Amino acid sequence: MTTQVFRSPAGYVQGRGVIDDVGGHADPLGETALLLSDDVVFDLVGDRVQASFEDAGVDFRHEEFRGECTDSEIERVADIAAEYGADVLVGMGGGKTIDTARAAREHVDCALISLPTIASTDAPTSSVAVIYTEAGEFLEFHVYERHPELVVIDTAVVANAPTRLFRGGIGDALATWFEADAAYRSGATTLFGTRPTRAAQAISKLAYTTLRDHGQQAVEAVERGAVTESVEAVVEANTLLSGLGFESGGLAAAHAIHNVLTQLEATHEATHGEKVTIGTIAQLVLEGRDDAFVDDIVSFARTVGLPTTLAEIGLEEPTDDRLMIAAEAACADEETIHNEPFTVRPADVRDALASVDAIGHRTR
Ligand SMILES: [Zn+2]
Repeated sequence: MTTQVFRSPAGYVQGRGVIDDVGGHADPLGETALLLSDDVVFDLVGDRVQASFEDAGVDFRHEEFRGECTDSEIERVADIAAEYGADVLVGMGGGKTIDTARAAREHVDCALISLPTIASTDAPTSSVAVIYTEAGEFLEFHVYERHPELVVIDTAVVANAPTRLFRGGIGDALATWFEADAAYRSGATTLFGTRPTRAAQAISKLAYTTLRDHGQQAVEAVERGAVTESVEAVVEANTLLSGLGFESGGLAAAHAIHNVLTQLEATHEATHGEKVTIGTIAQLVLEGRDDAFVDDIVSFARTVGLPTTLAEIGLEEPTDDRLMIAAEAACADEETIHNEPFTVRPADVRDALASVDAIGHRTR
């Protein structure tokens, strides 16, 4: 296989106060916009977003997001957008709102603006939506042909959100380079089913070095609701660099292990990025990285406030049997763990998780 594909949003806007310009950015995309958000997000930024659409002379309507990205919610939003004749759908808030807008616009064939109010994962720039059942359980991933026309992320809004979400975004982005590197070395394919590009490799590496250079300072600033150049750097790493890197660079063991951790009830309180962090350390153990290397990553994770033991993601004293069930699921045929450049068996994953826990406890 020789085809290489790189895909991305058409535009990305980041900075303090950029939420006040979203209407102007939407103007070239059409004349009518449907704004989708839950009430909490609308209370937080609704006035400013609406004012920016008024200033830009773009007609708009707000619709409340009902909390879960399900097939019925997607259909409901798509129907409202179609009835209104929306040229642009604006998903404002967290991943579930943006994913609903992403999926709904496929039905109505309009433009999509992704407006994350947190920097907790790398999903806002992607073409992927995670669909849940009515009961709130994971149902499936959809990879769409199109990306958002625009991603708008206001760093002052992000810095005032809970720091734990920002830390989680660092955890998600910390995995990107290791996974893209593994996928590249093994000749695996990306979410697009094609070979990764060198551009995606370089972007993934830059996500990693940016986090290492600015992570600690950025977390300290966000704890005080402050926006500094380090916060700008880490928001870009968490959102743009990691988003481009994971999609066009490829996933590997870290996200596969995350996926099965989500199936364990005990981890439900842990965020995406927190579980990915455990997955990343487990990947490094699987890959046979040396003590100094693993300790360095573990110590960085701890410095920025990410979990490094199983107990910290809710798995108090997990038995070998329980870890083995998770490990078997992580090694299912369709999981990206097989993008590692060697064969991974369930026993390897179980033992890697046990080792992660031991390293985490030792370095506490
Ligand atoms: Zn992720």
